Amino acid sequence: MSDVHLARPAAVAAADLRRLAAALTGRLWLPGESRYDEKRAVVNERCTGVRPAAVVSAATVSDVRQAIRWARDNGLAVTPRGTGHSFAGYSVSGGLVVDLSGFADVVADESSGLVTVGGGATMSPLYRCLEQHQVAFPAGNSPTVGIGGLTLGGGVAAVSRAWGLTSDALVETVLVTADGQVRTCNARENPDLFWACRGGGGGNFGVNVSFTFQARPVTDVSVCCLIWTGADAHAVALLDTLQEAVRQGPNEFSARLGLSTTGRGQAVTVSAVGLFLGPARDLRDLLRPALDVAPPTRQEVLDLSYWAGKDYLRHETFGGRFAVRTRLSPGPLSADALETLLWWMRRWPGSRNVDGAGVGLFAWGGAINGVPATETAFVHRDSLFLVSMDTSWTEDDAPGQVDANLRWLTGMYEAMGEHLPDSAYQNFTDPDLRDWRTAYYGRNFPRLVDIKRRHDPDNLFRFEQSIPAT
Ligand SMILES: Cc1cc2nc3c(=O)[nH]c(=O)nc-3n(C[C@H](O)[C@H](O)[C@H](O)COP(=O)(O)OP(=O)(O)OC[C@H]3O[C@@H](n4cnc5c(N)ncnc54)[C@H](O)[C@@H]3O)c2cc1C
Repeated sequence: MSDVHLARPAAVAAADLRRLAAALTGRLWLPGESRYDEKRAVVNERCTGVRPAAVVSAATVSDVRQAIRWARDNGLAVTPRGTGHSFAGYSVSGGLVVDLSGFADVVADESSGLVTVGGGATMSPLYRCLEQHQVAFPAGNSPTVGIGGLTLGGGVAAVSRAWGLTSDALVETVLVTADGQVRTCNARENPDLFWACRGGGGGNFGVNVSFTFQARPVTDVSVCCLIWTGADAHAVALLDTLQEAVRQGPNEFSARLGLSTTGRGQAVTVSAVGLFLGPARDLRDLLRPALDVAPPTRQEVLDLSYWAGKDYLRHETFGGRFAVRTRLSPGPLSADALETLLWWMRRWPGSRNVDGAGVGLFAWGGAINGVPATETAFVHRDSLFLVSMDTSWTEDDAPGQVDANLRWLTGMYEAMGEHLPDSAYQNFTDPDLRDWRTAYYGRNFPRLVDIKRRHDPDNLFRFEQSIPAT
């Protein structure tokens, strides 16, 4: 299936919509109005067919409450929208979308290191504020990603092996629940919701209007970018060596190891883009075994400030239409598993999207695994790598070519099932994943259902992969 879900807007009486518009400080956007299409846009163009009944651009917490109550009265689902970065497009539905871009403030308290971020803020203003105060916590590596989805699904950054997840730094969130109540959630107040908001996935339990994180002082870093183009002959040895560098290296070192192709039958490229909370001379030592396997075609290892390092790692990742499937690996991938990935990469059917196709091995573990699996809703506390497999295409690709890409991706995903468990990262939402309940949430799923049943028994916050109330 190339288009994910083509939901039509639910039918609502014009008088009811007028009543909602009149109650808001912010704006209501209806189909056909000037900013309606902008407000329902999603990053993955594969999912652009979804048309909400209306979009509330909320300006105040009271707007969020009004929207929730109104949607309940009119039998519509409520869908919070931060930025539209959900890979599966889950921040737009045929119901009432609550656009949180008006909740973009970021405030840091220098004495405590607490940073309070509006529920719709992106990384851009967040990093600006953090840099001003020279503090940080693990956050996204693209300026346009939103704090809401990132935190609620866990949130992994280049510093996560040293400092944990974005959600591990969360100390409090303010949530408007399905009954329209505004609830402060932290270790003492509403601890069950606080637990669920740390890995239970975006859009499930209410609208989070703010998040408060504990930040820490930053230090200088070093970064690396190593690229081996036409590396087919050395690919397995390179990835094997780089995986060992991660496994044996300190938690201060993290990297995204890549295998990519831009065309059918084209040579495969191996890459390692990483960050070290320490000097470049030590980072070079960590990378030396890989440099000894084969000389890279591009090699950069640099000392940078924390902020320049974050910019260096920035990647927009995907454009156009794409699909991503993930598995988690408890240790380094075996040579057989790496050969399997290489076999599939050589057989990518091709498309017109310059992003091509690839596999990313994101270094996890370290401090992420230092938290027990049931302490927060984020269950994946025993992995060393997130294995992310992707393909991309454009609207100019013929339907047959799109199907070939999706079949290819699923073929690779299934072949990797012989080597890796079925767990998947809930922030890389995968609409084609069959048993997403276990894959995203494992043994934490029953507790999430229980919390959902108590706080949203009528399933107001619902989408294709939402936590069910029963
Ligand atoms: C370019 C790019 C870079 C990325 N980089 C990283 C990265 O470095 N680390 C990482 O872990 N992930 C990363 N991701 C994945 C990212 O974490 C998820 O796509 C995440 O869901 C994005 O959240 P959002 O709020 O920006 O997007 P949205 O699509 O707006 O929201 C995602 C989900 O969260 C819900 N939601 C959003 N805000 C709220 C809120 N305030 N209250 C309640 N529900 C809410 C939505 O309803 C939706 O279900 C990246 C994705 C992209 C496209």
